[in-house]
Amino acid sequence: MQIPTEGVDESSLFEVMATYRDHDLDTKGGRTWAYVYDPGRADVDRVAKRALVEWYDENSLDPTVFPSLLRFENDVVGMARHHLRGGPDVVGHFTSGGTESCMMAVKSARDRARELRPDLDRPTMVLPVTAHPAFHKGAHYFDVEVVTVPVDTTTWKVDPAVMATAVDDRTILMVASAVSYAHGVVDPVPELGALALERDVLLHVDGCIGGFVLPHFRRLGEDVTDFDFSVPGVTSMSMDFHKYAYCPKGASVVLYRDASIRRHQLYAKAAWTGYTVINTTFQSTKSGGPLAATWAVLNYVGDAGFLDIAARTLAARKEIVAGIETIPELEVMGTPESNLVALTSAVGPDGTDVVNVFDVVDRMRTHRWFVQPQLGFAGSKANIHLSIGGASLPLVPELIEDFRTAVAEARATPTPPPDPAIVELLAGLDPDTLDAATFDALLEGAGIGASADGGMDLPDEGTAGINAILDVCPAPLAERLLVEYFNRLYVPPAD
Ligand SMILES: *Cc1c(COP(=O)(O)O)cnc(C)c1O
Repeated sequence: MQIPTEGVDESSLFEVMATYRDHDLDTKGGRTWAYVYDPGRADVDRVAKRALVEWYDENSLDPTVFPSLLRFENDVVGMARHHLRGGPDVVGHFTSGGTESCMMAVKSARDRARELRPDLDRPTMVLPVTAHPAFHKGAHYFDVEVVTVPVDTTTWKVDPAVMATAVDDRTILMVASAVSYAHGVVDPVPELGALALERDVLLHVDGCIGGFVLPHFRRLGEDVTDFDFSVPGVTSMSMDFHKYAYCPKGASVVLYRDASIRRHQLYAKAAWTGYTVINTTFQSTKSGGPLAATWAVLNYVGDAGFLDIAARTLAARKEIVAGIETIPELEVMGTPESNLVALTSAVGPDGTDVVNVFDVVDRMRTHRWFVQPQLGFAGSKANIHLSIGGASLPLVPELIEDFRTAVAEARATPTPPPDPAIVELLAGLDPDTLDAATFDALLEGAGIGASADGGMDLPDEGTAGINAILDVCPAPLAERLLVEYFNRLYVPPAD
């Protein structure tokens, strides 16, 4: 592949690009129940895209020369602080997404510990198994050891007493979710805040997906556990605007109880020959577009508008939960407290699942719905995730009827479970000692072998087979298989 000798004219160019998109999921219309967030209002999208494009060229690298960006950021952080009941000392930064927000909180905790506790050479952080991988990624990048604790397998929340047993004098940070992505529940933040104060440890509350919508649900009469800066002991929080504030992607915020903790996020370098660097986040040069779009959407929709979208979202969640109760083969996991729902198979008289949820996911795809498979882990069985948004409500009756049909179809033509011999083989493999040929064979066995052009095939025959294999792999092997898969998937076309 080379840059074409002569440029391609604009209209042919976009025609070609459109064909690349043929198999992409719909981002609007409500049939995609993960990855994309549709408020069900085209006007919000229009305003967001306008600000995104108009500020695309401005650079947050230096807010002193683009003061509009400094002003947008302080305003957006101020609105987030108010939303999460933070006092006047709460400060923070706009970031590119939830992962960056969570990782920044880990970095700040580590650098703060380095300053306050210089003798501590192997810091740890304590995470419930339901905490988002962004914290593991932060721990990996910033060299903090992770201690995970189990959660209750009916409520899917961490027990503060169990958390307490994992906190020791190496702990610098605890994490709680409000809500957890997998089950949509709020950890007991008030008790965890008390524990954090008692043990003098920082506590991050991950409100990436729940932080924006939960205050609205509370105002709509739902019983929402206190999870924000109103809880003593909470020292930092993350909240994504690009999820349920319906801003364009690349929009999140990390907040700190006060500037003495936030200071550790900032990075400056004067010791080189070029311009002086002072960065608030990972990126140095960064487009002003997502920030301007966030400011625009928050101001355009307004509190009343968000409350209205949240009311439709809550109604949709209640209808979905009630609808699933009419399908005996499916069960809702735990008690959803936000707008996320996890569905798993009911257990039959013989103690096994009555339907393979990965088959249901594939059958739903043939009915033009994308619902998200989640693998089993730490007592949480394989399940189907639904992220419910403002565009969801009118589609709920059709969704439920299609779930009923998909379950019947999945039971009629089940994907055979992985061969017990393969399961045993997988359980015994050490990912660190396998060679490339073995990984090729394993990927082939999972139905994602090499394609004719040397890259990898995307699974087009459905994903039940590959999910079934990943589901029975020990996590380190599944992780390594995924890395090997991507290492073969991203291969440029030949010259
Ligand atoms: C989505 C999510 C994240 C990560 O956010 P990205 O924007 O995808 O990087 C972190 N925590 C929770 C609970 C989330 O739902």
